Amino acid sequence: MVKNKLNCARVFCIGRNYAEHVQELSNTIPEKPVIFIKPATCLVKPGEKIHFPKHGKELHHEVEIIVKIGSEGRVAREEEALSFVSAVTVGLDLTLRDVQADLKKKGLPWEIAKAFDQSAPIGSFVPYNKSIDLNNISFGCKVNGIERQRGNSRDMIFSIPRLLVELSKIWMLRPGDLLFTGTPSGVGPLKVGDSIEIKSNLTGSFSWSIVE
Ligand code: MG
Repeated sequence: MVKNKLNCARVFCIGRNYAEHVQELSNTIPEKPVIFIKPATCLVKPGEKIHFPKHGKELHHEVEIIVKIGSEGRVAREEEALSFVSAVTVGLDLTLRDVQADLKKKGLPWEIAKAFDQSAPIGSFVPYNKSIDLNNISFGCKVNGIERQRGNSRDMIFSIPRLLVELSKIWMLRPGDLLFTGTPSGVGPLKVGDSIEIKSNLTGSFSWSIVE
C-alpha cells in the first residue's frame, strides 16, 4: 500500500452530519451517513501555506473533528467502535462551494469540489484514551480573528461509533485511516490573504494562511 509522509492511505469524510449545517445548505437530513473520500495527498500540516485552488471561486471552510484508526478490522457493534480509535484532532474539509453546487445540480461526483490538492488541512493528533469523551468535544474556527463556526460533537446526527460501524459495512478499516466527521453550521468563504485558525478543547489551536 502506498503511504504518504503522514502515514495515512485513506481519508474518509462524512457530509451533512450536523442538522443546522444541513439546513444552511438547504439539504435534507440523511437517513444514512453521506460518505466521500479524499486522497491522503490532500492532507496539509499546520502552518503550511494553502494555495487558493484555481478551478473554482468560492472556497469554504468546514471545521471538523477527525479520528484516526489504530487497528485493522470491521467494527460490528457501536460498543466496540472506540477500541479502533487511536487519536483525535481537528481539521478542515476545504470545499469549492460553487463547483460543488454545480456538480450537485448535475448529479455528478464531488471530487473536484472536495478532493483537490491541499483540501484537507489537519492539526496534530492527540492520542485517544477512554478518559476522552468523543461525544463532548467543543470546536470551532476563526477567520482573521473573527469566529465563524462553533460546534460540539454531541450534535452529530450520526455519532462517531455509528459512523465507524457504517464505514465497516463497506471497507475494512486499516491503521492510519482518517475519518472527518462532518461540520457544524457557519461555513463560509476564504480569500487570498486570509488566515484561518481552528481549535478544540482537546487539541489546542492550529492555523493556516491562504495564498495565491
Ligand atoms: Mg465537510
